[in-house]
Amino acid sequence: MISGIPVSKGIALGKALLINSEENKIKKEKISKTKIKLETKRFVKAIKKSIKQIKKIKKNVKLKLGKEKSDIFEGHIMILEDEEFSKDIKNFIKKKYSAETSVKKIIKKQIQEMKKIKNDYLKNRIIDIKDIEKRIINNLSNTEIKNFNKIKKKIILICKDLTPSETSQINTKNILGFITELGGKTSHTSIIAKSLGIPAIVGVKNATKNIKNEDYIIIDSINNEIYINPKKNIILLKNRIQEKFLKKKENLKIFKNLDAITLDGKIIKIGANINKIDEIDIAIENGAKSIGLYRTEFIYMEKNSLPTEEEQFKIYKKIAKKMKEKEVIIRTLDIGGDKKCKCINLPKEENPFLGYRAIRIYPKKIHIIRDQLKAILRASKFGNLKIMFPMIISIEEIYFLKKELEKIKTELRKKNINFNNNIKIGIMIETPAAALISNILIKEVDFFSIGSNDLTQYTLAVDRGNDLVSNLYDPMHPSIIKLIKMVVKESHKNGKWTGICGELASNPAAIKFLLQVGIDELSVSSSEIPKIKKIIRNSYFKKNIF
Ligand code: PEP
Ligand code: MG
Repeated sequence: MISGIPVSKGIALGKALLINSEENKIKKEKISKTKIKLETKRFVKAIKKSIKQIKKIKKNVKLKLGKEKSDIFEGHIMILEDEEFSKDIKNFIKKKYSAETSVKKIIKKQIQEMKKIKNDYLKNRIIDIKDIEKRIINNLSNTEIKNFNKIKKKIILICKDLTPSETSQINTKNILGFITELGGKTSHTSIIAKSLGIPAIVGVKNATKNIKNEDYIIIDSINNEIYINPKKNIILLKNRIQEKFLKKKENLKIFKNLDAITLDGKIIKIGANINKIDEIDIAIENGAKSIGLYRTEFIYMEKNSLPTEEEQFKIYKKIAKKMKEKEVIIRTLDIGGDKKCKCINLPKEENPFLGYRAIRIYPKKIHIIRDQLKAILRASKFGNLKIMFPMIISIEEIYFLKKELEKIKTELRKKNINFNNNIKIGIMIETPAAALISNILIKEVDFFSIGSNDLTQYTLAVDRGNDLVSNLYDPMHPSIIKLIKMVVKESHKNGKWTGICGELASNPAAIKFLLQVGIDELSVSSSEIPKIKKIIRNSYFKKNIF
């Protein structure tokens, strides 16, 4: 039995499918004769992709570090474009070896020959060739394996890491649960797992080494237990726990359409956090009274090119119309950190969570955010949309964002395009800086929403996605409690309101505190709504009620 960091509760039983692991990449050594053509095609595709990637890297290095440094990559390109090199590998594939095995074998041969000649220049070339090998193998596995749509049987996914956008493509009909070696409590991968309701344990050391393809796996993320090929009595026991868990979930459904009203009569608004438009129906079905957070970056993360204003307009209009008078808080693009997207080129950084992310990228990529704001404004006349900006640390940022919004309003007016002129604007409080100056910031906005996931990582200096420090990641640390109290108090003093949309909002241990502080809205993953309503209906709002 092994364990990790349980991030999405449930029990899953099934056969393991390893993806993205070294073992998987070179898993198939031999192929059948009929596969030779396909395998060669796959190899050619991977070579082309590798060349494209290196050309891009070369360009970036040249810009940042100069021509001399970028010339190193010219060597990589030369090897990849070398016809002899490709021919050798293709010939190997013809001997009924997989593309991965052929690449490995040919490169090994080349290295052996180079080692025979004692020469510093060639030593460095060996490193280059190893680098190239890694890249081709990676590209081969990506083209073939990391496409979840190809998974047709029920499996448990085992991998080193999953990106948030990969996780959002999981089809829970076939992928019953997942285990990763990396990840933290509130990484976006974990948050999405929770909203999909898929059992998941992250931060499991050596999972891809200890688990083999086809091993029978049990994930029990309620008790943080992973079993590899367990005995029959364990399987029976976990089947029973699963049954009980599902029954409990079913029983909670009676709370879906009830108000979240405390025992002393205070109604709390319960919203849903959504990452994709299709989640709207699930949110409504689970009894959401609003959409407290729409993570619009997922629109960008799922595309190879930037979504147009029109595409976005259609999405926001659809949500606005579906939710009718109920509020929908559209958070503007929040990429960077652990959220990467192909259509916006962000530099690789040492500390991405402290770097170029969220609104910090807007000034240099202003056309992107202008398109998004235009789309939101145009859709605003179809429902009750609100705009929320992420990762604020200063009043100047709010001035900048409001100025941009005003410019767009003027442009739309000139074009006689209707929109809600009084659209409300809010900001996320997810940095200690914003919390500490909330008395100033509140004067410029209509509402706050506490992003406890980031607020925790920035206050405690604990990376939310790092399993090595996940024991220190405590969203109920006294410092965070103090900041939350301060933020709610300042908003109320100014006749405004504060919600919370971080994972703390669905933590049963935090609900009483949040109620007593006077939080106005809790926005949680749709699947958590019934549970939260039940807890609120059994809690008091007022302090010292006895
Ligand atoms: C947060 O930081 O708490 C939040 C809700 O935003 P995200 O999880 O998308 O960073
Ligand atoms: Mg955040």
